[in-house]
Amino acid sequence: MNDCIFCKIIAGDIPSKKIYEDELCFAFYDINPLAPMHFLVVPKKHLASAAEVGEEDALLVGHIYAVIAKLAAELGFAEGFRVVTNVGALAGQTVHHLHFHVLAGRELGAFN
Ligand code: AMP
Ligand code: ZN
Repeated sequence: MNDCIFCKIIAGDIPSKKIYEDELCFAFYDINPLAPMHFLVVPKKHLASAAEVGEEDALLVGHIYAVIAKLAAELGFAEGFRVVTNVGALAGQTVHHLHFHVLAGRELGAFN
């Protein structure tokens, strides 16, 4: 997608604070952190949201969760963190490229 900000970050056309990259995914710090630790993990494949995930993406999504677990251990917050993916305007999705927020470093509270 030419006009997708996260595709541009993956391509290096927009700068980001990169944490991790492999052939399938890319992780970088959120520009507007909502917790002391807040980064995003995105697939390199452009999917608009979790609503577009199909069976063919099972390995990709599983891989992203394995990367999140690895980064949680390496960055020292494996004992407590939250993974969130917003879908659609009702859920507050503002960037339409599938992304997993990873939040840690403070009491995160219950969902309502
Ligand atoms: P969502 O509201 O779930 O779509 O989340 C989009 C997230 O992307 C927000 O938390 C933004 O702060 C973050 N974001 C938007 N642009 C950038 C950027 N250029 N670099 C890093 N994070 C960004
Ligand atoms: Zn994209």
